[in-house]
Amino acid sequence: MVTDIKTLTREALEAQFTVWQQPVYRVGQLLEWLYARRATEWDAMTNLPKALRELLRQHYSLHTLELLRKQGSEDSTQKFLWKLADGSLVESVLIPANPALYGEASDRHTLCVSTQVGCAYGCKFCASGLDGWKRNLNASEIIEQVFSVERWHEQQLKTAGQPKPAQRLVDNLVIMGMGEPLANYDNLIGALRILNAPWGGGIGARKITISTSGLVPQIRRLAAEPLQFRLAISLHGATDAVRERLMPINRKYPLRELLAACEDYQKVKGRMITFEYILIAGVNDGLDQVRPLAALTKKLFAKVNLIPYNQVEGLPWERPDEAAQEKFLAALEQEKAVATLRREKGHDIDAACGQLRLKTERELELKEAGEQKIVKAETGD
Ligand code: SAH
Ligand code: SF4
Repeated sequence: MVTDIKTLTREALEAQFTVWQQPVYRVGQLLEWLYARRATEWDAMTNLPKALRELLRQHYSLHTLELLRKQGSEDSTQKFLWKLADGSLVESVLIPANPALYGEASDRHTLCVSTQVGCAYGCKFCASGLDGWKRNLNASEIIEQVFSVERWHEQQLKTAGQPKPAQRLVDNLVIMGMGEPLANYDNLIGALRILNAPWGGGIGARKITISTSGLVPQIRRLAAEPLQFRLAISLHGATDAVRERLMPINRKYPLRELLAACEDYQKVKGRMITFEYILIAGVNDGLDQVRPLAALTKKLFAKVNLIPYNQVEGLPWERPDEAAQEKFLAALEQEKAVATLRREKGHDIDAACGQLRLKTERELELKEAGEQKIVKAETGD
């Protein structure tokens, strides 16, 4: 397979340009086209000599993502469903800056990015893992989610007759889309290095949060990375009995091991860890979970994000009513744990990643099944 240009660091490009006997300043020009101007064609790179553009074309691909479907309105959460070169579907979710969440009003946005097609970890409540794991995204496919959204935004502005924005649209990343990011470790870190680099995406490492279902060895590996990413752990249960019911990974890495790795991460990085805790009615929203959850949160100087469950078609789980959500939060606060509850409305669009893909794939399957029926009827099979 041809290497995509957006999987390469500045250093790797400089080494290649040296082999080609091209001046190194040309790498700067190339990077400007790739990441500041978000070019989609080699021929757009007009200040690069034609012969160099030809060399690049012969050696590398320059992939972008095809927008298959978009849901949501301008001023709220918007979901993008992308089609990759092999026809696979992945999602990204664009979330406008929320003063209550980030403490500052801003026209900047957070993008929730996918790292795999499907997921192998099979959490019982999650749409992403329902059809299993298909493949890892490469670094370029991870990076392109950010740039394709920004290209789309620019196009929107252009259509509305507005000038190009002076600032980047996306300034926060949450790696919480489809897939288990730490199971695609090398491509993830490769992509994040480029998204973080001043010559690349220019997004501060502290504005990048990686969410994991709890892959202990990779959490330890992440602790040794020089970049200061934020870490979120999908906890969803404060005792092994409850967590195991929801997340098969808890059998491999039970809470004791997971929390030891978190503690080490916290010590090395000195950064606050977040525990994601989806509230699912009658499963993990009982007050028996409050004490153990508060205890481990305080021990790790962490905070808890309570997220009312988004119902997934075909799965039996439901979100608790608002009163039950508030009660769980109040009980946690009573135990002096730092916690927030997501109270946004419009959760049908706001739904967790994986759901739009699932819905679209189901629709496509139905459509194909319908088409086959028609063909069969026509051929009389
Ligand atoms: N695999 C990683 C990152 C992707 S999932 C992880 O598990 O952390 C991102 C977050 O969305 C996780 O906290 C996950 O538990 C949550 N999630 C998955 N399905 C959900 C649903 N239906 N409603 C609410 N949150 C969901
Ligand atoms: Fe995979 Fe995360 Fe969904 Fe679990 S919650 S199945 S790890 S994407």
